[in-house]
Amino acid sequence: MADSKTNKNKCSFCGRSESEVGFLITGMNGYICDSCATQAYEITQEAMGIGQKSTGKGTNLNLKELPKPVEIKKFLDQYIIGQTDAKRFLSVSVYNHYKRLLQKDGGDDVEIEKSNIIMVGSTGTGKTLLARTIAKLLHVPFTIVDATVLTEAGYVGEDIESILTRLLQVADYNVAEAEQGIVFIDEIDKIARKGDNPSITRDVSGEGVQQGLLKLLEGSVVNVPPQGGRKHPDQKMIPVNTKNILFICGGAFDGIEKKIAQRLNTHVVGYNASQKSAAIDKNNMMQYIAPQDLKSFGLIPEIIGRLPVLTYLNPLDRMALRAILTEPKNSIIKQYVKLFEMDGVALTFEDAVYEYIVDKAVEYKLGARGLRSIVETIMMDVMFEIPSEDKKEYEVTLEYAKTQLDKANLARLQTA
Ligand code: ADP
Repeated sequence: MADSKTNKNKCSFCGRSESEVGFLITGMNGYICDSCATQAYEITQEAMGIGQKSTGKGTNLNLKELPKPVEIKKFLDQYIIGQTDAKRFLSVSVYNHYKRLLQKDGGDDVEIEKSNIIMVGSTGTGKTLLARTIAKLLHVPFTIVDATVLTEAGYVGEDIESILTRLLQVADYNVAEAEQGIVFIDEIDKIARKGDNPSITRDVSGEGVQQGLLKLLEGSVVNVPPQGGRKHPDQKMIPVNTKNILFICGGAFDGIEKKIAQRLNTHVVGYNASQKSAAIDKNNMMQYIAPQDLKSFGLIPEIIGRLPVLTYLNPLDRMALRAILTEPKNSIIKQYVKLFEMDGVALTFEDAVYEYIVDKAVEYKLGARGLRSIVETIMMDVMFEIPSEDKKEYEVTLEYAKTQLDKANLARLQTA
């Protein structure tokens, strides 16, 4: 395009000079400014039918094709042992969530509200696994964020909006897709208000963060920094509507059993008391969790109100751990069998080895996460040697497993 002298430092599209725009990109025969480039990008996206606009709508889902709650649960059953209640809650909520996305505007006045989910249960009982598995089934952008890194704007840590940055990244910056995604916020209990006195001093990682989170949970257009981290004035923000994003929160809420017990005790005093208290299963108080317990723990009522689906996960007992070892579709043992298969070796285990692994996980209180570390420890030497040997099969015996674990210092796994 033309005379480089006169057109120099001017956008060839809008004609504005370099000083009037953010920056200019130089082409072969001309220039384009940042805002024209953005517009051009949006036009391309629209022409390609991707739809970059933040409408909070636009789905190619179809109710008939959507898996029904029973099917969702069946799918979850393939990967997750037990946790029936949580699975049912999650299946129904996710199904309803997608019905919401499909509802047409206009017509009657009934608008289905969003039902974000909160799952309470000790660490390592399958909260993340549940959320991850659901996302796998639904083929929607899914991300896990840790609430512990979030702080109030202006403090060291990450701004609340960075939660959506991750979602945008997994959706390849396709805003419309990200706007229908699922965000799993882990360790939500860590942003509980510390102590009962609200804000005598600033509670940087507590109530302030909860207030910030509220905005995302209830559905609003949020300006998201595309690269995450801290917002700064020169950064171009991407508006994202959170109206249709499903938030699933998870937390261990250590010590909440005490609050539940307190509430149940006060409730069971008096009329009908003995009958009710007799029915309480003291070994698993979590199953009686109610919204007011979250409040006693330090979540603000507004947040609790925005997480209307409350469910819990059971602690994993011996039987559950034993099942986790071999039953899920991608159980640890199945993974090892596959690893060996790739070397042409048929791997088997003596049954007693499984029991032994579970015994150790229970003894060292390693939970489900520890199962993998134990199997890893047992298998390390043989994995080192077998690819160079000419074996077609290998059986892990109880004796071998014991020798391997005795050699290792299991106690070191406890902090893992
Ligand atoms: P949480 O989020 O509750 O802390 P995770 O979902 O991350 O726990 O679980 C850690 C690991 O333990 C999972 O990756 C999985 O291998 C195993 N696990 C935990 N609970 C279950 C379960 N109920 N069924 C199958 N595997 C489980």
